[in-house]
Amino acid sequence: MAWRYALMIDPAASDDSRSDFSDTFTVVDPTTPALSVGELSTQRGDGIFESIGVVDGHAQEVGPHLDRLAHSAELCDLPAPNREQWRQAIVRAAAESPESGEGVIKLILSRGVEHGPAPTAWVTAAQAPDNSAARTRGIRVVTLDRGYDSGAPARAPWLLLGAKTLSYAVNMAAIREAKRRGADDAIFVSSDGLVLEAPTASVVLRFGDRFVTPEPTGAILHGTTQISLFDHLKDEGHEVAYERVPVSDLPKADAAWLLSSVRLAAPITAVDGVEIPVDADLTASINRYLLSPRD
Ligand code: PLP
Repeated sequence: MAWRYALMIDPAASDDSRSDFSDTFTVVDPTTPALSVGELSTQRGDGIFESIGVVDGHAQEVGPHLDRLAHSAELCDLPAPNREQWRQAIVRAAAESPESGEGVIKLILSRGVEHGPAPTAWVTAAQAPDNSAARTRGIRVVTLDRGYDSGAPARAPWLLLGAKTLSYAVNMAAIREAKRRGADDAIFVSSDGLVLEAPTASVVLRFGDRFVTPEPTGAILHGTTQISLFDHLKDEGHEVAYERVPVSDLPKADAAWLLSSVRLAAPITAVDGVEIPVDADLTASINRYLLSPRD
């Protein structure tokens, strides 16, 4: 039986320095409606979110997720989240998660109700889907043109390409298109031929002993899982690099993965029908690391 938990948050000002935010939290029944019909998150996808992996009751990489929530809020002109308030909400949600197994905690900050006075904020916790097949058997991907060239984020910051907004309809459409083309997932590329990211994950490639990911120029989300993996690989003596990666490099990789907070490392077995090698031992060791408690 899947478990679920939900907490509404009365968002505090970012400079509210009280030590205990309990009285700003209201536990709600996750199986019953809790949002107003005027919510701009549901009407316009106008808000931001984070998905945090939970392993054996431990919420992973809370600091980097809170950093990115603050960055997304800034890009979207939302009030800066009170870091300590959100941290305490995550602690509550993690405490409600089972002591063993994998879960996901979501943080959501929306612009609120139309003409309303304040943003709406809530946190949910739920059982994670079983990702073992993607982690061990791998995934086939296709490249899909995102329709923007690599100058778009600077020229048109209102596209919010570097923010984790609630507007994921395009990302979901890309995954459906990938499935129509016989693959499991997609990799977005810029119209001038650079590798960007997957609809819900970062891309990491291995060339020899070098691990490479597309530079986070504002065209993509900077993945917390990729950052954590690069720190780990550096500690293990590997070379890591942020680079402009041409699409033509994808099939030349010695191994490649899609990385994200809940699915973790899914090895890529083929790009646009061209098989690429899978390093099963390295993938297993990466996923062991990603499943270990990380802060
Ligand atoms: N890029 C996109 C578009 C995503 O949606 C995600 C995660 O959902 C990522 C990258 C990977 O981010 P993280 O590793 O923080 O989950």
